[in-house]
Amino acid sequence: MSAQIIDGRQLSQNLRLDYGQRVKDLLSQGVQPGLAVILVGDNPASQVYVKNKVLACKEIGMTSLLLQFEADMTQAQLLQEINRLNHDSSVHGILVQLPLPKHIDPQAVIQAISAQKDVDGFHLESAGALMCGAQGFWPCTPHGCLKMLDSIGYDLSGKHAVVVGRSNIVGKPMALMLLQRNATVSICHSQTSNLKEITLQADVLVAAVGIQRLITADMVKPGAVVIDVGMNRDDQGKLCGDVDFEAVRSVASFITPVPGGVGPMTITMLLANTLDAAQTSIATPSLSA
Ligand code: NAD
Repeated sequence: MSAQIIDGRQLSQNLRLDYGQRVKDLLSQGVQPGLAVILVGDNPASQVYVKNKVLACKEIGMTSLLLQFEADMTQAQLLQEINRLNHDSSVHGILVQLPLPKHIDPQAVIQAISAQKDVDGFHLESAGALMCGAQGFWPCTPHGCLKMLDSIGYDLSGKHAVVVGRSNIVGKPMALMLLQRNATVSICHSQTSNLKEITLQADVLVAAVGIQRLITADMVKPGAVVIDVGMNRDDQGKLCGDVDFEAVRSVASFITPVPGGVGPMTITMLLANTLDAAQTSIATPSLSA
């Protein structure tokens, strides 16, 4: 068996066509959706991520405002900038690219973003909404993974989903989303003693660890759907995931590649969240005033 590839680039392209139409619909209602992206310092990877996000906005006709600051910016200055954007009605989403320089507390910064503009879905209010099944912004990466499962018409109800990784931005919210879709969910992490025993039970396996080729073919149940969130560099400097793609491909029924899998979907979900924020601002204009 050779698994079918879930092509994140193609799926993103299809979704972004729809989102371009949503931008036009918003414009016809007098709203130009806008995303503010803040980059502090000159981390090369962050510069690439930020550039890709700005380009994606442009592609669908959304305004993007890129604010770049020196690495020695103080936390107080950054909080002041966020406060200004919170009150700028032309900005519907605010994203602060992580990681931040060591002297800035990322939690203080994330919590300073208005929950109505928290398009990364990292605010405690967004996390609480996801936990309780209430309306709120979902973190983009796990949301993108869920969209990929939806794209193959996968019914999660009653299935065993195993998430490897328990970070606040990927693993935990992923587990909650799968739970919301009625999967039976297991979360594995660095202290899990019997990883292979658990992954072998997975109908859906999501790897979000950051260790190249951690998931090998003998850890995957035949016919499982495998979603690879990992973004690592191999010994040749090539981008690779957490899954041994070539070997696992012969065991799984569906698999996402790296690159071209979850990565593009993450940005696409950022666009979706920003459009939702812009739409909400029409119903509740005071939120962005
Ligand atoms: P993180 O470092 O915050 O979390 C990693 C998790 O892996 C931790 O919960 C840890 O307990 C677990 N872990 C570590 N070693 C393990 C092991 N041996 N066995 C089982 N679990 C183990 O990382 P993160 O921010 O969640 O990101 C995970 C990966 O996903 C990274 O490679 C990151 O670059 C990638 N990522 C990709 C996207 C994307 O858009 N494609 C977005 C976010 C993160």
